[in-house]
Amino acid sequence: MPVYTLPELPYDYSALAPVISSEIIELHHDKHHAAYVKGANDTLEQLAEARDKEQWGALNGLEKNLAFHLSGHILHSVYWQNMTGDGGGEPLEKDGVGELADAIAESFGSFAGFKAQLSKAAATTQGSGWGVLAHEPLSGRLVVEQVYDHQGNVGQGSTPILVFDAWEHAFYLQYRNQKADFVEAMWQVVNWQDVARRYAAARSRTDALLLAP
Ligand code: MN
Repeated sequence: MPVYTLPELPYDYSALAPVISSEIIELHHDKHHAAYVKGANDTLEQLAEARDKEQWGALNGLEKNLAFHLSGHILHSVYWQNMTGDGGGEPLEKDGVGELADAIAESFGSFAGFKAQLSKAAATTQGSGWGVLAHEPLSGRLVVEQVYDHQGNVGQGSTPILVFDAWEHAFYLQYRNQKADFVEAMWQVVNWQDVARRYAAARSRTDALLLAP
């Protein structure tokens, strides 16, 4: 039995068009995300085999593969939920997402400042990566992270609540080399209800990082 499984998309392939074409969504979910799920499961099997045989020669590579594929699976699982064809705008109290709006204002000074930072972080990734809004449990603040591949350059323990995939597979068929245009368009499909529920869950959990001695 595989440990990880590919989650169903919460909408049709065409639900995010014209911001993201149905062709991109189908390939991105059915091929790319599926490959990370398979990669994570395969790596767990290879690690079990290494333990059984007490053969540790490939361990460094296996640990790197586990971090890559597992993080890819986790970020894509959040990504699909973060978007809706009925989204966009900014989080407002009248829409029931006032706590998130307040947290963004407190952490970044303003929504505009936050939007500019996350847009730049996603659009200026070198190579493949993500722009991520994350909850940092020690301070309770929100932070923007510029993630390398799926797993690099992140603060330990932070929880991603809004993720912008900036890999070429996320946009190239439609936006070609205009990554900044893709990132700007992404704001039209942000599902603020989903981001707000992730913020509330991250904030309310008892985090192991916060346990007293
Ligand atoms: Mn992707």
